[in-house]
Amino acid sequence: MINGIHHVTALSSTPQKNVDFYSGVLGLRLVKQTVNFDDPGVYHLYYGDGLGSPGTIITFFPYGRILPGQHGTGETHSVAFSVPQGSLDDWKTRLEQLEVGRVEESTRFGARTLTFKDPDGMIIDLTEEPVADRPVVDWPEAPLEPSMAIRRIIGVTLAPGAHGPIGEYTTTEDALERILGFEKVGEEDNRTRYQSGESFVDVVRDPLMPPMRSSAGTIHHVAFRNPDEASQQEWQIKLVAAGFRVSPVMDRNYFHSIYFREPGGVLFEFATDAPGFDADEPRETLGESLKLPAQYESRRSMLEKTLEPLTLPYPKGGRLAGVAQQEENA
Ligand code: ZN
Repeated sequence: MINGIHHVTALSSTPQKNVDFYSGVLGLRLVKQTVNFDDPGVYHLYYGDGLGSPGTIITFFPYGRILPGQHGTGETHSVAFSVPQGSLDDWKTRLEQLEVGRVEESTRFGARTLTFKDPDGMIIDLTEEPVADRPVVDWPEAPLEPSMAIRRIIGVTLAPGAHGPIGEYTTTEDALERILGFEKVGEEDNRTRYQSGESFVDVVRDPLMPPMRSSAGTIHHVAFRNPDEASQQEWQIKLVAAGFRVSPVMDRNYFHSIYFREPGGVLFEFATDAPGFDADEPRETLGESLKLPAQYESRRSMLEKTLEPLTLPYPKGGRLAGVAQQEENA
């Protein structure tokens, strides 16, 4: 069984705009500033909870001045974050105050959901989840109270395209159920929900949807969790035997990855929980400086000139420091 979602990776335009939205508006911690390992002139920014725990991570390749992409078939269409039960009204107010743009409200499989777009047009759902047993992994500069902070990526929505059968698997739904071990748990309008572990994958079918065009504001892939290397290897063998074209294991420094496309053309990744984001810098200062993989360290000074320096939107010392200060004064 798949142990839920590990991370989601998307394309965006300006890096600072990306940081301002994901850390400044959504209150996620920038847990890693590194570069695209395949294209080191571009940042790879990782956001998550205070530690960048597996299941909380969203990552971006901010390509600067690129055209907006087009949503459509063959993509992970949107990402759903969970927020504490009872916080959705406060979120609605916050999103309106920060002028995020149109925020739509709906009920999806019984859960109240807000849907809006990031500055590049990527579609985000916020949905409530009871979090009594899911304490927030906080950090000193966290801009949001734990009563409101995003907890994790609870699910994604896929819009399958016409990639074609893989082995005996004809559709996305078929592959989710029969090889990846998801269980169909509901159907609503053109949306079918599959569940594995603590995460859902919704599949939407819309005959009028155009094929997606990958660029700013579109999701590049969704990654599912492998607890360790051994389970990743088992999956690799199983998928190859079933006819999937699976990449070799890639060392992403903070996890190890394999990639493959499912029959609807959506790119999937399996990523290991370890080593994690404190592999190359202390937890206290995660994301505050540029980290490079060994192969690019010799090009650091050149890369630092190419990459626009980032300003973190949360103040050093932040909310919790403020609380400590008040307690001291009381
Ligand atoms: Zn990935």
